[in-house]
Amino acid sequence: MQRVRRVVILGGGTAGWMTAAALGATLGQTVSISLLESDAIGTVGVGEATIPTIHWFNQLIGLDEADFVRETKASFKLGIEFVDWTRPGHRYFHPFGRYGVDLGAVPFHQRWLRARADGHDRPLSAYSLAAQLAEAGGFARPSNDPGSILSTLGYAYHFDAGLYARYLRSLAEARGVTRYEGRLEQVEHDANSGVITALTTERGERLSGDLFIDCSGFRALLIGDEMGSPFEDWSHWLPCDRAVAVPCARVAETTPFTRSTLRPAGWQWRIPLQHRTGNGYVYASRFVSDDEAAATLLANLDGEALAEPRMLRFQAGFRREAWRGNVVAIGLSSGFLEPLESTSIHLIQSAIAKLITLFPDADCDPALARQFNALFGRDMDGIRDFLILHYHATTGHHHPLWQHTRTMALPDTLIEKEAHYARSGRVMLSSDELFREASWLAVLNGQGIVAAGPAPIADTLDGAANRRQLDQIEAVIARAVPTLPRHDDAIAALLGESGARASVHG
Ligand SMILES: Cc1cc2nc3c(=O)[nH]c(=O)nc-3n(C[C@H](O)[C@H](O)[C@H](O)COP(=O)(O)OP(=O)(O)OC[C@H]3O[C@@H](n4cnc5c(N)ncnc54)[C@H](O)[C@@H]3O)c2cc1C
Repeated sequence: MQRVRRVVILGGGTAGWMTAAALGATLGQTVSISLLESDAIGTVGVGEATIPTIHWFNQLIGLDEADFVRETKASFKLGIEFVDWTRPGHRYFHPFGRYGVDLGAVPFHQRWLRARADGHDRPLSAYSLAAQLAEAGGFARPSNDPGSILSTLGYAYHFDAGLYARYLRSLAEARGVTRYEGRLEQVEHDANSGVITALTTERGERLSGDLFIDCSGFRALLIGDEMGSPFEDWSHWLPCDRAVAVPCARVAETTPFTRSTLRPAGWQWRIPLQHRTGNGYVYASRFVSDDEAAATLLANLDGEALAEPRMLRFQAGFRREAWRGNVVAIGLSSGFLEPLESTSIHLIQSAIAKLITLFPDADCDPALARQFNALFGRDMDGIRDFLILHYHATTGHHHPLWQHTRTMALPDTLIEKEAHYARSGRVMLSSDELFREASWLAVLNGQGIVAAGPAPIADTLDGAANRRQLDQIEAVIARAVPTLPRHDDAIAALLGESGARASVHG
């Protein structure tokens, strides 16, 4: 069987350089990797919040955490705070990590539901160390000791998207990836099979390959324009189609979480970094003008704006055939779901993991593409439902967007999940869904979907003993929080005192 010997990546945004770094680290000995990007076209330039799966990718490419945090001016992220979502004036936190601790056969959240049914009404967040630590402005890494409350933590990062792509580029080039600069001019196909054989640049360079990775962003130049893979539109469920983004001066003390605040026609993100704070208003253009969205964003910054606001357009949805022929789309070219739960960079690394596992021979067996596409489709369907949950379970917002999302028809899969939870507190998940029980619990409860009572397994508990155990866990968490470092101190400790001062205040 003839092997793939030459991989050509089109695009040098986060997707292109993540793919290049990962293929360089894994297949770089046997496969030549070229990347074409255009400085004149540039990148989307946003995408700064991640979820804990990022650790898998960082390990894959052998990344040193201190180097990475220094080079990308990163901060730590313990979860997302949702402000005004459920109803005006309400807040909740979606923490990384687990609620409570494991105590035998009855899942922790069923213990919590049983205690509530017994009249012990404490919020679920009281049992999350990540949520409590975030609220106090602290940070700690998870412990490997299962007996420690620190083992229940999870974390991810916020980073500067431009610096991240630059950092990955240096790693990829050190592993032999060759970069070409310039616009794509022409795409050559095999006359018989239709597969792509070469890309030609505006400077006349010809990049021939066996396998092409389309990381050209929303343009989807190879998977869309050349291979004709259709786009499945989800904007009837996720109507936001634009964003305006602006960085502002950092605050005195950075917070270890992303904040998402509901706005009349969408929501606003706040992402604290070492050197600045990233902000953006994601909105539905049929309910607000661009000027009004920009004015709302600028009126709600917690420091001086550091640049002109930048407008971005998008459409929710994806390509069920992200792999067609010898083209694999990774990143925005494969589809987009708004950044409400910071899932795009995860989807890039998840596609990279699939590609490495299913890496084809030169004939590009269509069965591999079918498997890739089926797994990718399941990823997207699951994340879509999780995002829609935030939009429809709200009260007290009278703006047209929120009236629409509250009353719109939902996917059957989401209706079923909500119904099961409301009846018995069960979170019905398939084994490969990205968001696990703790995430669904955080958002279901946060958005006001309450379980009528616990599942039958919780009847086996002794009510008084159960309440005592919950009180003990809450007390352990409350005692631990003040003993842990402040978020900025944790960054400083990782970077080393002098580096930290230069980086945090420079
Ligand atoms: C408003 C918004 C907020 C977001 N926030 C988050 C977040 O918080 N967390 C998260 O995980 N994700 C987020 N994302 C998604 C994230 O930004 C992207 O997934 C990520 O940046 C990857 O983009 P990309 O590399 O696919 O595309 P791009 O960054 O657009 O890169 C495309 C590349 O293709 C090249 N190219 C295009 N056309 C040509 C051509 N003709 N010739 C040569 N080269 C060409 C460009 O030069 C560029 O290098 C957000 C997205 C948006 C729109």
